[in-house]
Formats: sequence, structure tokens, C-alpha cells
Amino acid sequence: MRKSGRPQIWIVEDARSVYERPFNDLLFHAHTVHRAHFDPNQIQLSKLLNIKTGGCPEDCGYCSQSIHHRSGVKPSKLMVPEQVIEEARKAKEGGATRYCMGAAWRSPKPRDEAAIVSMVKAVKALGLETCMTLGMLSSEQAKTFADAGLDYYNHNIDTSERFYPEVATTRTFDDRLQTLALVREAGMKVCSGGILGLGEDVNDRIDMLVTLANLPTPPESVPINMLIPMKGSKLVDAAPVDPIAFVRIVALARILMPESHVRLTAGRASMSDEMQALCFFAGANSIFIGDTLLTAANPGDDRDSSLLRRLGLTPETAV
Ligand code: SAM
Ligand code: SF4
Repeated sequence: MRKSGRPQIWIVEDARSVYERPFNDLLFHAHTVHRAHFDPNQIQLSKLLNIKTGGCPEDCGYCSQSIHHRSGVKPSKLMVPEQVIEEARKAKEGGATRYCMGAAWRSPKPRDEAAIVSMVKAVKALGLETCMTLGMLSSEQAKTFADAGLDYYNHNIDTSERFYPEVATTRTFDDRLQTLALVREAGMKVCSGGILGLGEDVNDRIDMLVTLANLPTPPESVPINMLIPMKGSKLVDAAPVDPIAFVRIVALARILMPESHVRLTAGRASMSDEMQALCFFAGANSIFIGDTLLTAANPGDDRDSSLLRRLGLTPETAV
């Protein structure tokens, strides 16, 4: 568990020299840090549900739910709480300890707040940790959701401040940091990470992690995504990510944020078992279970349970 006191402040040059170590040294260091803070044979299982699909006015270059992209994703209205609760019940039976609900919004509208609050309360009553990812929040909205008992709020910074304008233009990097600060101020835990494969360079990847690690309190949960090139999106033809470079970033995330859960997130469906095993050794200790993420493929329960069994990884029990 997180110990009190401010974790170390990192400078990019130091993070870069850690990243550039020989692969075996980097992974040995990351695994040692991992073991010092977590049971290396446990993995936190989350389930992600899209509670409102498509029709988003933002222009995130990677996203199938943006109205700026002809992705073919059919927009849907906000799901009714009863449907969400039914899905959450199934997720709990499937071993999830956290239930993450995402909506393709720039920000939730006041008219949506009551439904969001009732979803949080009902999912929490099932004994699941709750997480929402609804876009940018006002301080009042953050407080409303915190008062409803929302445990985590996800809001990924996605890349470095320098590269961010290449990823999205309908909001700024500072807008992202502002929402993270409001979430923290309201007393919720923070889930924030990013994506590799957007066209960024290695300095951007390292900068992204240093930004997260140097937040007044680093995120309790850090999703590391590998771009899934989505039909109709700006990044559909993006170059694939070098698997070794990806594992290096997972290891660096572990070293920079020793007490955070590092989540191996989007892209796992196209990762080999060996690549995933290397990421777990490097300190990734959380995944999304199930066949789909928001609108993209996920390995699914059969492949995941076979991999976790062969690796001897067991699910973390409810906190
Ligand atoms: N609309 C909310 C927002 O933008 O904050 C919810 C975001 S939801 C958690 C989507 C997150 O998953 C994005 O922040 C991004 O990091 C990741 N993601 C979305 N599409 C992706 C893709 N095609 N490939 C990899 N990661 C993706
Ligand atoms: Fe909208 Fe979120 Fe997709 Fe960006 S990532 S376009 S904010 S749904």
C-alpha cells in the first residue's frame, strides 16, 4: 500500500538514463522495485464498460468515438443504471474487483449527473471499486461524484505536453492536468496514463511518465496503452510500437511510480503471451478482463485465464 510522504521528484535526464540501461538491468531493477511494493504473483482485474458510446465532440486522433472520425461506431445514449448494474454483477462474478465506466463525452452534462451518481452507488453496493472516465470535470462535478462514493476517476494525459497538440486540438494538456487536480482535491483516487504509438518519440514517452510521477500525488493507477489503429481515425496507419520499447516504458513506469498499479491496457489483444509476460515481470500488475474495451478488442476471458494460469498470476481479492 502507499506509504505516507512525498515520493521522489524525477528529472527527465535521470528517467532517461534509467530507461536506456541494458534491458536485463532495467527489468531487474523494475522487478526488484515491484517486489518491494506488491506481491509479484498477484494481478488486479478490472472491467471496462462503455456506458455512452460515440458522438464525442473532441478530436483525439486515436479515438473511434470522436465525431471527427468516420469509424462506423454507432453512437448510443447513456445506458440506464439497471443495465450497468447487471453488467457489473457479471464482471464481479468474472473476478473483477474494480468496475470502470466510460462515456464518450467532452464533459458530463448536468442532466447526466443523477444517473452517474446512481450507477456509482449501485455498483459500489455490489462490493466493487468504482471508476468513471467521463472527460473533463468541474470542481462541483468532482465533488458530486466523490460524495457519491466514486473511488477512482480515469483521465489519461496520453502523451507528453510537447506532443499533446498532435494528439488532440479540442482541449489542452493543461485541461487534462486541471481535471486530475480537481479529482484529487475532491478526494478520489486518480487513474491516469497514456498511449504509445501516436507518433511520439521516446522523449515524449519518458516525459509523460515523469509528468505523472511528479504530480503532487502520483496516480494510484497508471494505464499504459498500445495504440489500436481504429478505422477512420487520424492514426489508422500509425507505425506499430516496438515491443521491447513498450516493455521498457512499463518498467520505467514501475520504477518512477513504485506504489501505483501499472495497468497493461489497450493493445493486449495483439500482444504475444511472451510480451505480456515480460510486461508483468517489468511491473505491470493490472489488466482489463473481458472481450472488449470501449469499442476495441480485448483478449477475452479464455485467453486471459490461460495466460494467467500458465504464469501463476492470481487475481487480487477485493480491497
Ligand atoms: N472520453 C474519456 C476521456 O477522453 O477521458 C474516456 C477515455 S477512455 C478511458 C479512453 C482512453 O483509452 C483514452 O484516454 C486513451 O488513453 C485510450 N484509448 C482510446 N482509444 C484508444 C486506441 N484506439 N488505442 C489505444 N488506446 C486508446
Ligand atoms: Fe472523446 Fe474520450 Fe474519445 Fe477523446 S478519447 S474523442 S474525449 S471519447
